[in-house]
Amino acid sequence: MQSPNHNERRLGKPDMVVIHYTGMKTAEAARARLCDPASEVSAHWLVHLDGRTEALVPEDRRAWHAGVSEWEGERDVNSRSIGIELVNRGHEHGYHPFPEPQMAALERLLAEIMARWPVSPRNVVGHEDVAPGRKIDPGGKFDWARLARLGLAARR
Ligand SMILES: [Zn+2]
Repeated sequence: MQSPNHNERRLGKPDMVVIHYTGMKTAEAARARLCDPASEVSAHWLVHLDGRTEALVPEDRRAWHAGVSEWEGERDVNSRSIGIELVNRGHEHGYHPFPEPQMAALERLLAEIMARWPVSPRNVVGHEDVAPGRKIDPGGKFDWARLARLGLAARR
C-alpha cells in the first residue's frame, strides 16, 4: 500500500462508498498529495483516466477523504466508507467528462467492493452528497444513471 494516511476504523465494516474527483492538474500531483503525510488526505483507490486502478490504503483501514461530512446522522463518514478518487481536473482546473475506460474500471471496482463489504446501492454516494455546500465532486458530468442501471448506485 502506498499512502501512510490512514488509521483504525471506529465503526466496524465499511458500509458505504464515497466517490470523488481529484481536482488537480495532473494525476501525478494528485497521487503525490494522497500519499504525502503532510497533506493528511488519502483514499483507498485512485482510478486513472485510462482505467488503471491503484490501491493506496487497505480497505479495512480508515482513509482520510470525506473531511467534514455527514450521512444518515453519522459524521465520521471516513470510518464507515471506502473512498474512491477519480482522476479529473475538476471545476477549478478544467472539468471534463469521465472517460469510458475510467468508468468501466470504476464499475468493476464497485462490484468487487460490494461483494467484499455490506455496501448497498443507496450507500454509494458522491462527496457532494455527504458534504453539501462544501464539496461539488464528482459533479454533473458524473454518470450516476449508468451505475444505477447496473445496481451499483441508487437511481437519483
Ligand atoms: Zn472529494
